[in-house]
Amino acid sequence: EAFNANVAAAKELNAFIVTTPEKALEAADAVDADRAAGKELGSMAGVPIGMKDLFCTKGVQTTAASHILEGFTPQYESTVSSNLWAAGAGMLGKLNLDQFAMGSSNETSYFGNVTSPWRRAGGSNTPMSPGGSSGGSSTAVSARLAPAATGTDTGGSIRQPAAFAGITGVKPTYGRCSRWGVVAFASSLDQAGPMAHDVRDCAIMLGAMAGFDPKDSTSLDMPVPDWESALNSDMKGKKVGIPKEYRMEGTDPEILKSWDDGIAWLKDAGAEIVDVSLPHTKYALPAYYIIAPAEASSNLARYDGVRYGLRDLPEGAGLQDMYAATRAEGFGDEVKRRVLIGTYVLSAGFYDAYYTQAQKVRALVARDFDNAWKECDVILAPTTPTASFGLGEKSADPLAMYLNDVFAVPASLAGLPAMSVPCGVNSEGLPLGLQIVGKAFDEQGVMNAGLAIE
Ligand code: GLN
Repeated sequence: EAFNANVAAAKELNAFIVTTPEKALEAADAVDADRAAGKELGSMAGVPIGMKDLFCTKGVQTTAASHILEGFTPQYESTVSSNLWAAGAGMLGKLNLDQFAMGSSNETSYFGNVTSPWRRAGGSNTPMSPGGSSGGSSTAVSARLAPAATGTDTGGSIRQPAAFAGITGVKPTYGRCSRWGVVAFASSLDQAGPMAHDVRDCAIMLGAMAGFDPKDSTSLDMPVPDWESALNSDMKGKKVGIPKEYRMEGTDPEILKSWDDGIAWLKDAGAEIVDVSLPHTKYALPAYYIIAPAEASSNLARYDGVRYGLRDLPEGAGLQDMYAATRAEGFGDEVKRRVLIGTYVLSAGFYDAYYTQAQKVRALVARDFDNAWKECDVILAPTTPTASFGLGEKSADPLAMYLNDVFAVPASLAGLPAMSVPCGVNSEGLPLGLQIVGKAFDEQGVMNAGLAIE
């Protein structure tokens, strides 16, 4: 009830697209009843959570923060959300995001931007970006509107907003969490994960979210370990790799300083620090911004005015006119930009020059990590090149916005588990995050290193 009151009181942050207080209360009542009946409680029993509005929720509007899906009420529940309900969690509401999860600032939502609860110290009252695309999730958790929220990460959308908001976010290995019922952006990259206050909460929540799902052909058919009970911040015998290519021009000196702090903390926890090289890092971002839009252009073809949500059928119009009118009205500018880039790089004349080339780069980026694992167990790097920025500061320049993802996309292209863990604030009082990347399936190693930093 306290969380529901907070959500109602913090309307101006715009973190929620719809609220469902009755669902959170229902879950709490169900837990009370189970407890009274002496039944065993689930790992998320009674926990009220926010659900990124990219997860289909049966009977509750699911929009991906787009106009084209406004009013769409799914007849089914995503696997991840049903796993969470089965573990006893309850839904506070659907969280705002960048439209179709495309963005890094939460300014591309059809329902208006989300505002971070953080401000620059020293009297400036500029409203700050909560990061994106899971900006509703990062704001809900950091403003204490929800103790935890789901996020999705295609090229940083869990880690970057977590860093901007001073919270913890985990993107598991590709395939750990089912994509069934999650509105698709770039299917070979999309992965769900938890966003919460600390590593332990993330470990518990990820345990509830993850698991094999025959309805997702890329789902990992592997048992879900008990990450929470195996949490251990002792780094003795562990090697932490520091990738030299991440010391990039344009990175804020305060971020570099926080990276050095992180190195020192892990050393204190017993880790051995080793230098590693990920030579193709600088090609990862351009490759991502070809592959992700290519997949998006294909995935978004289903929004045609026939199957879901919005339909714009001008007087006397034919089928093609209806497609055009519906999409012109229903998709935002950033979504249109991605669809245009995606269809261009997939077109017959340019496929090899762009798409095939980007796939080759993707393989090289993955191979860089394979080589690094010969020398270390986890990699430590910044999550983002800068702390949060003011709303509007970057929205006119898509390239400046894309650059935010420079440290996040390599792990996405390689499908590796990665997290952002808070590491204090900068001189403006804004939160900073450190990123840990691990070997495939080693969420435990990633979260253990996160715990050593926390
Ligand atoms: N900011 C990146 C993009 O706009 C990543 C988004 C995401 O991970 N969903 O594509």
